Amino acid sequence: MKEDCIFCKIINGDFNTEFIIENEHAVVFNDINPKAPVHMLVVPKIHVESLNELDDKNLLGELMMTVKEAAKKAGLNSYKTLINTGKDAGQEVFHMHIHIMGDKK
Ligand code: AMP
Repeated sequence: MKEDCIFCKIINGDFNTEFIIENEHAVVFNDINPKAPVHMLVVPKIHVESLNELDDKNLLGELMMTVKEAAKKAGLNSYKTLINTGKDAGQEVFHMHIHIMGDKK
């Protein structure tokens, strides 16, 4: 855990954030400022600043499996995934995460 990291604090339960999924590797919760009718974030439990610092292939696989599980749970057949890497690409929270955005139809 990194003391000044908002997502580490969420994972630690500091804000009582509702987790759509919690497993050994990750938590999934709703984005506070949704850009789609369904907008969730898949966040690894370990603090990794961005995709550039993630070397664990197994963890990356687990995160993508969690994406699928969260999409299914939210009733999404179609959805987009996004990983912003670096501030020039729009990364605002420097704890790597995968956006899931979709619309229930
Ligand atoms: P990024 O720009 O890829 O770093 O995305 C960061 C995302 O985190 C943005 O879509 C924010 O709306 C979202 N966010 C920031 N703080 C919180 C929070 N406390 N709870 C849920 N989502 C958050």
